[in-house]
Amino acid sequence: MGILKMTLLVQKYGGSSVGSAEKIAHVADRVASSAANGARLVVVVSAMQGETDRLLGLASAVSTRPTPREVDQLLSTGEQVSAALLAMALHQRGVSARSLTGVQMKIRTDGAFSRARILGLDRDAVLGPLHDGDVVVATGFQGTDEAGNVTTLGRGGSDTSAVALAAALRADECEIYTDVEGVFTADPRICPQARKIDEISFDEMMELASQGAKVLQIRSVELAMNHDIPIRVRSTFSDDPGTLVSTSGGADDADIERLVVRGISHNTDEIKITLRHVPDHPGIAAKLFTRLAKSRINVDVIVQNTSLQGFTDLSFTVGGTDRDAAEEIVSQTAVTIDANGYEIDDSIAKVSIVGVGMRAHAGVAAKMFETLHQAGINIQMITTSEIKVTVVVQRDKTTTAVNALHEAFDLGISS
Ligand code: ADP
Ligand code: ASP
Ligand code: MG
Repeated sequence: MGILKMTLLVQKYGGSSVGSAEKIAHVADRVASSAANGARLVVVVSAMQGETDRLLGLASAVSTRPTPREVDQLLSTGEQVSAALLAMALHQRGVSARSLTGVQMKIRTDGAFSRARILGLDRDAVLGPLHDGDVVVATGFQGTDEAGNVTTLGRGGSDTSAVALAAALRADECEIYTDVEGVFTADPRICPQARKIDEISFDEMMELASQGAKVLQIRSVELAMNHDIPIRVRSTFSDDPGTLVSTSGGADDADIERLVVRGISHNTDEIKITLRHVPDHPGIAAKLFTRLAKSRINVDVIVQNTSLQGFTDLSFTVGGTDRDAAEEIVSQTAVTIDANGYEIDDSIAKVSIVGVGMRAHAGVAAKMFETLHQAGINIQMITTSEIKVTVVVQRDKTTTAVNALHEAFDLGISS
């Protein structure tokens, strides 16, 4: 068989899958057996579990304001370590393998440090070693900008590296190996009744990921959808076939009618900022949100109260890592727009129900609110899209909310 006809697989192993020498050996066994089956393989690895956080800790230990360029330069080393170690473990098993970094694969990104977007990559840099019969062990999470700086893709970014490689190389499959058996109806860590979903659509997976289900980075799902690359999420530690994420999501029309809610996401990484007594004229929101956008701060849920005597309260959520940058902008803007100060609440959580079936069903939001009411949980903010309803609640109610909703929408019962 000519090399062009051989199956090309991209496999990505997350931090928990390569978290120790023993685990790297286990991954090497898995990769070796895929290679023995005759597939050409690109294996994308994350940093060893905890390593990215350890490096971030070191950065803040030496500097109160480490520059974004050096943070990315530092963080990219985590993936380089696991890639080289996995290549060595493969050599040990008689498998020829070559590790490649983002720079070596010329993964071009924009210049947004710590949240860079992939623009393209050098196919030949990867195809060359594959052609020589090597397994390519690629560092996830990183690339290089036009000026040659190392950039990173945001937390969970190795998922996106894997999909980008699969798209560029037109791989037959993109498998994401992790520490759970697939995509579940809710985070199995906090919801014991959560059930593995066999197939799910890109649309639903995008919403679940964007609302906090960190099993896949949202950009990886976006990219897979744009290039129509099915993703299989599965466990490094079992042979379960996992979850297939694809355009159809495997559901026929009858399923869509029945499966109103497919899953529940939660996110405890956001904070809520409220500006008090804001003068209610045109241009105020524009001023604030333009300043936040210019600093690349993503604003999520926004609620503006009805104005009372020409004044209103304005609340919105941002990622916890943007707290300091957001506070600086809000405190200055509060003065320029003549608001009566601001408050920051960092004990909030977002809980979302997601499902394409919601399009065709009334009363889903009402059922969600009633369920939370019955559980004694106060709703602080609400936002909806065609296929999701999100509420902001007190953070210490997250587990209660997720489990109550999981039960109310019958997600634990196999369909
Ligand atoms: P990796 O290190 O392999 O990239 P992550 O920690 O990024 O793994 O993602 C896997 C984790 O995602 C799981 O351990 C689980 O706790 C969490 N998770 C959150 N929501 C879900 C969900 N709906 N289905 C599966 N896992 C989920
Ligand atoms: N190591 C990075 C992180 O911890 C990227 C990844 O694991 O996907 O977020
Ligand atoms: Mg991850």
